[in-house]
Amino acid sequence: MRRRALLQGAAALPWLAGLPLAAGAQAPAFDAADLRHAEALRDAGLRDGEAWTLVSELATGIGARPAGSEADARAVAWAQDACRRIGLSQVRAEALPLKVWQRGPGAARMVAPTAQPLVMAALGNSVSTPAEGIEAEVAWYPDLAALMADTGDRARGRIVFVDQKTERTRDGSGYGRAVGARIAGPVEAARRGAVAFALRSIGTDRERIAHTGATRYDIRVPRIPAFAVSVPDAERIAQWHAEGAPLRMHVALQARSDVEAVTHNVIAEVPGTDLASEIVMVSAHLDSWDLGQGAVDNAAGVAIVSAAAALISRGGRRPRRTVRVVLFGNEENGFDGARAYGDRYAAVPHQLVSESDFGAGRVWRLASRVQPAALPLVAEMARVLAPLGVEPGGNDGSPGPDAAVLMRRHRWPAVGLGQDGTRYFDVHHTEHDTVAQVEPESLAQNVACWAATAWLAAQSPLPFGPPPL
Ligand SMILES: [Zn+2]
Repeated sequence: MRRRALLQGAAALPWLAGLPLAAGAQAPAFDAADLRHAEALRDAGLRDGEAWTLVSELATGIGARPAGSEADARAVAWAQDACRRIGLSQVRAEALPLKVWQRGPGAARMVAPTAQPLVMAALGNSVSTPAEGIEAEVAWYPDLAALMADTGDRARGRIVFVDQKTERTRDGSGYGRAVGARIAGPVEAARRGAVAFALRSIGTDRERIAHTGATRYDIRVPRIPAFAVSVPDAERIAQWHAEGAPLRMHVALQARSDVEAVTHNVIAEVPGTDLASEIVMVSAHLDSWDLGQGAVDNAAGVAIVSAAAALISRGGRRPRRTVRVVLFGNEENGFDGARAYGDRYAAVPHQLVSESDFGAGRVWRLASRVQPAALPLVAEMARVLAPLGVEPGGNDGSPGPDAAVLMRRHRWPAVGLGQDGTRYFDVHHTEHDTVAQVEPESLAQNVACWAATAWLAAQSPLPFGPPPL
């Protein structure tokens, strides 16, 4: 009752309209008991062991689970069982039909200057080569920009090779700058008459493993087979190119596109009280690529947000708003789950959308996309997380890929808990993405951050949205 009165009384205050505070005006603040409870959740999160159990079950019990596969169906069943077991309510799976891509066998090798096998992986959505494969001279480019700047005939009839390097960064910006080569490279190569597209793996490791990931075709341009080779293979090719050696490559790969399938969004909740119709979304994606175990991408995120919600549900106080765990289907190759969720819940007010999808590294930054009037509340949230090594970020944050789709489409406010991704792209989308990459302590720090953040968002005295455009 007291809170309701505060809200009504507050309606006339300038910060609700996004106006600057007049001198002496009161900034919005969390209730002191709510702040104390957030600190208790944070401290309990640091002792959490639930997330580690969940990661192990999903990553090693089920393993790789591309959307629409039989393993994906088992992951959907597992996620519902796990959410019920850890005490969440309203657990359900919402079906979504989709068309999926399936990898078949693939191999690539250098034919000249010397015969050598290459470690490769087809890019997601790649078309097949003819059964006998494709052999051609290589047109080598240092990066996507160089390919795009080529107005000549060099690529015609050749296999385009793009040696795009991925810079190691804590915030993933190096990947952000490099990944365009994977997404746009095949179309740019085909526009110039290439017969296939090869890419230095978009990754920061120096292992002999290839990184997959989605590429995209354009209906106006021929679809050519596309694949990535390991970084050491790419470096060898670059050296031959620098020496002026004639490069010739052979590739044979098979894949199926547009296979009818079904996947699900899995949803579970901690029911709210007086503002139960408003949703605080904590999310991750349940699907993974078909290589490795999908442990850091994204069993870790699944485990973190589920364990954080479980902590809130066991915490002895019901949240005002409903805390909703959403485990999206098919983030990796189409965002079908995010779009289906947005269509289904478009009319439901969302206090917050957020996603954990950057591995299992420690959270170091809290960024937001909220209405300016709510910024003092985000600053208070950051103060609660400060003892865990979390810095305040700006109000231009990214909340994770599926949540970003929803933030943009529905103009729902968002929070991004930025993780340390220094090592994330060593294993991302590869066979090395296994539970061996996950540290229980970092996982618990994540759970602590998410539990405190979601709780405070649920208790906020004012709506976080709409965020600035
Ligand atoms: Zn992911």
